[in-house]
Amino acid sequence: MQSQLPGVNTRLIHPKESFNEETGAVMPPIFQSSTFTHGNPKGFDYTRSGNPNFKILESVLISLEDCKYSTVFASGVSAITAIASSLKTNDVVLCEENLYGCTVRLFNQVFNKFGIKTQWVDFTKESATELIKEVNPAMIWIESPTNPLLKVIDLKKICDVAKEQQIPVVVDNTFCTAIIQKPLDLGATMSLTSTTKYINGHSDALGGSVCTNDENWDDNMKFAQKSLGLQSSPFDCWLITRGIKTLSLRLEKQVENASNLANYLIKHPSVESLKYPFHQSHPQYHLARKQMQLGGAILTVNLKANQKQSYSFCKGLKYFTMAESLGGVESLVCHPATMTHASVPTKTKEMLGISESLIRFSVGCEDFIDLRNDIVKGLEKLM
Ligand SMILES: *Cc1c(COP(=O)(O)O)cnc(C)c1O
Repeated sequence: MQSQLPGVNTRLIHPKESFNEETGAVMPPIFQSSTFTHGNPKGFDYTRSGNPNFKILESVLISLEDCKYSTVFASGVSAITAIASSLKTNDVVLCEENLYGCTVRLFNQVFNKFGIKTQWVDFTKESATELIKEVNPAMIWIESPTNPLLKVIDLKKICDVAKEQQIPVVVDNTFCTAIIQKPLDLGATMSLTSTTKYINGHSDALGGSVCTNDENWDDNMKFAQKSLGLQSSPFDCWLITRGIKTLSLRLEKQVENASNLANYLIKHPSVESLKYPFHQSHPQYHLARKQMQLGGAILTVNLKANQKQSYSFCKGLKYFTMAESLGGVESLVCHPATMTHASVPTKTKEMLGISESLIRFSVGCEDFIDLRNDIVKGLEKLM
């Protein structure tokens, strides 16, 4: 029999690195040490520049993404900062116009002061590829599906054009994880993830990671980790290493629940419209089917309601906690207009399609019937 590479679940459960040779501990300990004896065999030095718990999690993330390198950070925003800090004055970053809010804030209110420029574009438009040639940016930054509108962007098409001009492409893959979509296989230079979300899955730790096959970019990430102080904590890495073991089990249940909810809610009289990448009504349905293994577990709905009613609907749910964040086993609901996108000017919100009746569900692992009944009860109050 030919020896085969173990499957992804096996690889997530059995990390390549364990540092358990001496004790046989099945679960790795938490290496709660800020510094290490000079000249130790594994080359550890000081936790800001590396720690066994970082290495264990990085080895699992390398397995998940099927790539060469991974660097872990304190949060998704730290990972974004690490990449952006490698840019220089007058560099232009061509960004998807519907990027995660904190990414937008970082570029506009922090890196802008250092002379890093941004240009915003709707990457679902055919003309976007022409714009790449015209602008010739230092970097392209995309996210798919986008938050909260779930626009699906053709990653391979963008990466192919970028490659011709040797432009590095960053894909924020937080909404999918490599179980659903593999940006590096589609040509991206870096796959960025907020491991706070699906990867950890239990809403009890923060983390971020950048995976790549490019040695120079990996050097940049390791440099940023230690020189900007963006490193994670051993305990958070330990929690995330535990959480990731059940990633595909959790996702399977979450996606099933989300997909069932989409099919149910689209017919509900209080629902104006609904976005779910694997529902036939999605504008990029065919692309989503081609690019993603599963439809994901985020669902966006426009209610037939005003801002006050939409807000009360969110507040009144029992199993969907009204909170920022997503990807945990517990369901969450968010009212983007007054929460995640509250700081976005009204005109921009309108332009992006973030209306006052827009609701974003992060569907968890609860029993479908309870989630459905919870939402239906809330919708009945609107009629
Ligand atoms: C949450 C999130 C981030 C930021 O991650 P933190 O861990 O909260 O810093 C970045 N991108 C996306 C798409 C996210 O959802």
